Amino acid sequence: MSANSQDVVATPRGQADLRDANLSELRASNLVDLVFDEVRAAILDKSLPPGLRVTEAGLAEHLNVSKTPVREALLRLRQIGLIEDDGRRGGRVIAPSRSAIEHAFEIREALEAFTARAAAERATDGERRAIYSAAAESLRGAEAGDRNAFSHWDSMFHERIAKTTANPRLVHLLDDACALIATLRTRDLPHAGASVECAKGHVAVADAIQAGDAAAAAAEMRAHLLRVKDYVLEALADVLDEPQQIAGPMSTPPDQEPHP
Ligand SMILES: [Zn+2]
Repeated sequence: MSANSQDVVATPRGQADLRDANLSELRASNLVDLVFDEVRAAILDKSLPPGLRVTEAGLAEHLNVSKTPVREALLRLRQIGLIEDDGRRGGRVIAPSRSAIEHAFEIREALEAFTARAAAERATDGERRAIYSAAAESLRGAEAGDRNAFSHWDSMFHERIAKTTANPRLVHLLDDACALIATLRTRDLPHAGASVECAKGHVAVADAIQAGDAAAAAAEMRAHLLRVKDYVLEALADVLDEPQQIAGPMSTPPDQEPHP
């Protein structure tokens, strides 16, 4: 099959919103931001699933915009790692592979060992309490088997720590690294006990931040991320050990059935 707009089989989320917007009045840079946000959201909610080939022409048609902002948005998505180059114009939504997951976690580890250390050193009392409360809520959610609550408080926990750096670029970089991991991890944690273990890791990090112990906060954060990475790899073990599902035929999206 050729690289044409038919390769884009899924409809990006919120497409109608973009069509309704009076695009001609938007400045070009805003339009690139809009297209970027829209495609990123569609990749995150899997309406553009991992492994899917996307083309400038296909996305431009779906979003009812010209190819120029799509080209720029794709360039940024490639820099983040959400779209990978496949030697042709456009690219492919990144698909899980052992090395892609390990590399993405290395980036988080580098960033979050720093953010945890910074939080222990500089966070205000209010920030420390907010971090601890997000950790405690994630544990409560995990113990209750409430997957949505766990994952909400998981994100809040990491975000609150990152924000104590008061460094918007760093918060942005971490957000991008987390988006890449959310795309690569096509399944939930392998069992309920895994969420509880992860949430206990949050509490350990929060304890170290409360105590103002920067070295312990960084070490606990590293241990937490390594544990999460191991669970992600365990949950995807059968997929990652099937090489043909990683490479995939040129224009065939991967299995789009919900995973068990
Ligand atoms: Zn976490």
